[in-house]
Amino acid sequence: MEDDDKLSPDLVWQPDGHLTDVALTALGDGEEAILPDGAAAHVARCPICSSALGRTALLSLRAGELLRAQAAPAPSCASVPAAPRAPLPIAAIAFALALSALGAAPSLASGAGGLLERWAAIWHACSVVVRTGWAVAGSGALSGWLTALPWLSAALLVVVGVGVAWTRGRQLSTDGGM
Ligand SMILES: [Zn+2]
Repeated sequence: MEDDDKLSPDLVWQPDGHLTDVALTALGDGEEAILPDGAAAHVARCPICSSALGRTALLSLRAGELLRAQAAPAPSCASVPAAPRAPLPIAAIAFALALSALGAAPSLASGAGGLLERWAAIWHACSVVVRTGWAVAGSGALSGWLTALPWLSAALLVVVGVGVAWTRGRQLSTDGGM
């Protein structure tokens, strides 16, 4: 092995006979090939240099982890359940409910004649509400909340849908008497 490939002794050895930070860093990075003969053997039997090497290796390891974490977020961090959840998208829910009310109105208007039709209209309203809710959920706007509270959200939409349909049905039947 040519000595040209190795670090010069003044870069490797301190005046007191221990290894320099440069040599310890090279050892910690697994580049002992660039160190002159005897450097690794010195670390092996010198407690001061071996503990310094341990600190250097830890620092190098931590620096590598930090660099990797900045390059790509660690999956273990991304999947922590306590990660901040997106705020409840009120606008998306209001939009879904408005859409479902619009969807329910025509069937209520046409089916206000009898009790059976009204129940069918209410059922249709519920299904429209639920389907709209799930469509919004599928679009990802509510995914954070609906994956956590799927049935509560669906039940809320059904209750509101029934309320809309019932109020609308009562209005229509009252108006129909005129
Ligand atoms: Zn030493």
